Amino acid sequence: MALAGSVSLGKFFARNGPLQTAHSGYEYRPGQIEMATAVAEALEERRHLFIEAGTGTGKTLAYLLPVLQSGRRVLLSTGTRNLQEQLVTKDVPLLASALGQELTVICMKGRQNYACKQKIADFHSQPGLLERDEYDMLARIRTWAAETETGDQAELDFLPENHPLWQRLNARRETCTGQKCPLYDSCFLTSLHQRAAAADMVVVNHHLFFADLRLKGQDLAGVLPPYEAVVFDEAHELETIAGQYFGIGVSSHQIEDLARDASAHLKMLDLASPDMDARIEYVRLAAQKFFLCFGAREGRTVFEERPQFVQDHAEVYDQYMGSLAYLQSGLEAIHDKPEEVHNLMRRAGDLRQQTAYIVESEDEGVVYWVERRGRGVHLQASPIEVAALLRDQLFNRTDTVVMTSATLAVSGGFEYVRGRLGVEHARERVVASPFEYARQALLYLPRDLPEPNSAGYRERAVEEIADLLEASQGRAFVLCTSRVQMKLFHSAMAGRVKFPLLLQGESPRNLLLEKFRQTPGAVLFATSSFWQGVDVQGEQLSCVIIDRLPFAVPSDPLVAARMNALEAQGKNAFREFQVPEAVLALKQGFGRLIRSSRDRGVVALLDSRVLSKSYGRQFLDSLPDFALTRDIAEVREFFNVPATSLR
Ligand code: SF4
Repeated sequence: MALAGSVSLGKFFARNGPLQTAHSGYEYRPGQIEMATAVAEALEERRHLFIEAGTGTGKTLAYLLPVLQSGRRVLLSTGTRNLQEQLVTKDVPLLASALGQELTVICMKGRQNYACKQKIADFHSQPGLLERDEYDMLARIRTWAAETETGDQAELDFLPENHPLWQRLNARRETCTGQKCPLYDSCFLTSLHQRAAAADMVVVNHHLFFADLRLKGQDLAGVLPPYEAVVFDEAHELETIAGQYFGIGVSSHQIEDLARDASAHLKMLDLASPDMDARIEYVRLAAQKFFLCFGAREGRTVFEERPQFVQDHAEVYDQYMGSLAYLQSGLEAIHDKPEEVHNLMRRAGDLRQQTAYIVESEDEGVVYWVERRGRGVHLQASPIEVAALLRDQLFNRTDTVVMTSATLAVSGGFEYVRGRLGVEHARERVVASPFEYARQALLYLPRDLPEPNSAGYRERAVEEIADLLEASQGRAFVLCTSRVQMKLFHSAMAGRVKFPLLLQGESPRNLLLEKFRQTPGAVLFATSSFWQGVDVQGEQLSCVIIDRLPFAVPSDPLVAARMNALEAQGKNAFREFQVPEAVLALKQGFGRLIRSSRDRGVVALLDSRVLSKSYGRQFLDSLPDFALTRDIAEVREFFNVPATSLR
């Protein structure tokens, strides 16, 4: 790894220092030096570190420079693809130009993002396996694959998102023959790993990180290059994402993929036969019947009474499990099996085992649930707590893990997140935002508002929203804790206010955000997915209205299981789990408003419990230091101050 000369952190980030010289818009921020110093010390002294860095701290550069200077192999992991892209295309190049040295940075994504050269060649050489129009698309992808260095799907601007052809051509693990593949040496993934091993910096995302950790936990070869330390940005996502990878899941889509791959591969290998076709068809039909047993209710539900389920659906369950075994034995009987057939056998066996675990296992500490999205059904067994797994597989094995985000601390402390993630020893630091919140932002808590579940709440909330939108002249997000509430407020405003109203779900997220940015006075009604990772700078977003404190829904299987587990330990699940979770979520919602030192605006919280309940204090203590008002006239006055007077 390249060393970034001997420039001191203080000098680098100082006024007129190398960073300001390279980037004219750079503003000096003492918090950035504070954070960089803390990260450098953690890397030097091999300690874990929690560091909450308020919005505007410039946290990416504050960890990139110490990472580079440490000379250690440090993996950078982000919660979202957007931040991953930003690090690679913006932040690392900026650091390189400020340091006056070349830096190589590699962005690694999950295997399904890369093309498989072997599959492209296979489908090209076998007409009849795809639809006619898919062959036109295949030809374009083939031309691109011959020229691209990365094989990354993100380069394919002509391929619509979620195009089914990509699922057949990507480099996913289940269909890869690894070192037995004739194209292994020129494979995009082989070259990605070689480039990553030689790079100054490797940027991954949490999904890939935990997929790798899980493989290593099963003594299988991981996908990431060796590392000595990790920096997790957007670390508030860690528990959720780790939970997904430490669990076991089976979906109806996986079975459909298996049947489709089996059919295509056997044809390509000239091994298709009426007997194998019948076995594949049997898997399809048996799986359709099996997944129908889980009802039509959309969303997540607990998979309760599993022994009863086995009794009630014994015949269908046996047929489904038997169909996978039948496919396996058919594949087994093929002589001189090529690696592709071994792969198919393994997949059928794994799906049987995983289904059996989810339906029949008696393991404690696991929550079993079912999720239906449209036609797809997903069965999942998830660990209720990931703390012990993370402690064992991550924090005890890697001596330096830096976790940063704008939302990690509750009432200024890290006790909650430390417990959830299983970190026994870590340094902790809160770096304040450089923004002058007391001057730039106003928190409005309306007077005389009934509690959210009380009679009359909605009518009063609708009036408050209308008044607020008039005061801010639109330019607002209305963030709701449920889709029902979101739709209700949206329709209540239609015809009542004159501003253009946008609703989550009416177009894809990025398009909707772009429309919001481009439409003067627009108001966007949205739910939890817009509470984080959304960045709208400037006057276009001047008001954020939050309907209620964002407590996680206790009917969600994981939330319910976590609460039950805490109660069983004699703890108060509401105080020790629901409140801190909601505090962190609310901080995320607040974070949407002030994105730069020139932004100003109002956050309105339409939930009187923040003042009337004892736990309300924890919310208020954790939020940024906004000026507070209970008077709508002050909100109007705030908006009458021209923004230019702040500059
Ligand atoms: S090694 Fe695997 S992913 Fe790469 S070309 Fe071969 S089959 Fe495809």
